[in-house]
Amino acid sequence: MKKLHEQIRDEMIQNNKRYWAGDNVSEYITEDKKNILIDEATEAFEGVLDALLIDRFNDPNSHGTARRLAKMYFNEIMAGRYDPAPNATAFPNDSQDRYEGMLVVRSELRSMCSHHHQPVSGVAYIGIIAAEKLIGLSKYTRIAQWCARRGTLQEELANDIAREIQKATGAKDVGVYIQAIHGCCENRGIMAHSSLTQTTVLKGAFADDAGTKKEFFDNIKLQQEFAPR
Ligand SMILES: [Zn+2]
Repeated sequence: MKKLHEQIRDEMIQNNKRYWAGDNVSEYITEDKKNILIDEATEAFEGVLDALLIDRFNDPNSHGTARRLAKMYFNEIMAGRYDPAPNATAFPNDSQDRYEGMLVVRSELRSMCSHHHQPVSGVAYIGIIAAEKLIGLSKYTRIAQWCARRGTLQEELANDIAREIQKATGAKDVGVYIQAIHGCCENRGIMAHSSLTQTTVLKGAFADDAGTKKEFFDNIKLQQEFAPR
């Protein structure tokens, strides 16, 4: 009898569905299935602790760690893989006094690098020139966090956020700038404690029009003066 994660994997392979660390697989997961997957991941993490020669039976701090890890992956640090897209109701922006300016939203981000499963923390600045639809301000952050709560690379994350914001708003002019600190550079490897990585993705006027691009980065500077990270 195949385990549930094997059954779902087979189904995804059959459908040519990509299931990389940064991909969302929510269409294959229900709440009930998620609970079974958490059980299966618990068992697998128990195997990892055993292989690391950690006494998960007598060490009170390691007792229950496998289940804590399994739940943390599914419900927190990788929740953006298993949860469907946040529902971002769009409001029409087509009346006479429609908003035509640039909007820049600053979103706190918590993510994880898919190479080392180390935390990535930072902030994304999402810029958009309002199109026919507007979404609530908090939705930008919800969408950004949904993209971030997976195993990602910062370059990939900026692309994902830009694409999902375009999808939710119908806007073609979108800019995303991310500044983040990577656990994999701080806690291991080069152990550089203040290394900061920046990535930028520019679409439409943000890429093609020098004035729009400058206004976006001027706005980011203003935001950083107001709320320095
Ligand atoms: Zn890494």
